[in-house]
Amino acid sequence: RAKEVGRSIFQFYNKNMQKLNASEMILENGLRKAIDQNELELYYQPQFNLDSNEVSSFEALLRWNHPTIGHISPAEFIPLAEDTGLILSIGEWVITTVCKKIKEWHKKGYKSVSVAVNLSAKQFQQSKLAEIIKTAIDSNQIDPKFLEFEITEGAIQDAEKALLTLTKLKEIGVQIAVDDFGTGYSSLSYLKRFPIDTLKIDQSFVKDVLTDNKDAAITTTIIHLAESLGLAVIAEGVEEQEQVEFFKSMNCHKAQGYFFSKPLPEKEIIEHYLTK
Ligand code: C2E
Ligand code: MG
Ligand code: MG
Ligand code: MG
Repeated sequence: RAKEVGRSIFQFYNKNMQKLNASEMILENGLRKAIDQNELELYYQPQFNLDSNEVSSFEALLRWNHPTIGHISPAEFIPLAEDTGLILSIGEWVITTVCKKIKEWHKKGYKSVSVAVNLSAKQFQQSKLAEIIKTAIDSNQIDPKFLEFEITEGAIQDAEKALLTLTKLKEIGVQIAVDDFGTGYSSLSYLKRFPIDTLKIDQSFVKDVLTDNKDAAITTTIIHLAESLGLAVIAEGVEEQEQVEFFKSMNCHKAQGYFFSKPLPEKEIIEHYLTK
């Protein structure tokens, strides 16, 4: 009897595993075709200047509209794209699409709009990255200063290689931000050695910044650190008015989050946020 139960558990487990693999395979095959089938879309989240209350930059955030499953969150498919290497072609699509968008928006008269693009670790480590970025910039004839790249501390595994890549990107003339700052393992000496422009305070520190003394201490320290090093700083995941007041009072001049706006499709960005 015990044997029977054991076997049925085993079979159930086995069956479940097959199912899991199958759905993963479906997702992976879907992702392979997603670019060609026009299922990928970029949303844009405005970044606010807290002094002027103006928007001049947006973060591009990828969305996948699967024909049968519907919207799939990047938190789910970016890791899969990383594992399968598909992130490289998807990432190239994102870079090209953003450069086209910047050109289009500037042509329409929205002159000072800039856009931030997320780069995953694998993308950052690919040898052709600078070349891909340069090609996208040149073929759209945009000023590289309107393009920013967000990397996380996790992307910096080989410090010498990372320095070389960042130097190439700065030679092209784009901006560099460290995303989710404070959550990785990178050493502070990187901030000294690497050509970085902006620190993005991770939303995990912002969430309870008003009630948790440690979060308040960490965010304040990041703001001071940025200021002393001559870097820009932006708070991510700001959801409440009181958080806005906190960051203003701490001399953090930029913020982004649901309090201001969630990421929006291009049409709504043009309607609500682009000013000539
Ligand atoms: P991230 O770059 O740190 O982006 C911030 C995430 O927080 C976004 O989630 C955004 O929609 C969400 N967010 C913004 N404001 C708030 C807020 O006030 N509260 C809360 N709770 N969340 C907020 P999303 O769009 O699901 O993207 C998740 C992650 O996927 C991104 O984290 C980024 O690491 C990655 N990702 C997104 N688009 C791309 C892309 O084009 N390329 C690559 N390589 N990664 C991407
Ligand atoms: Mg980001
Ligand atoms: Mg982030
Ligand atoms: Mg993140």
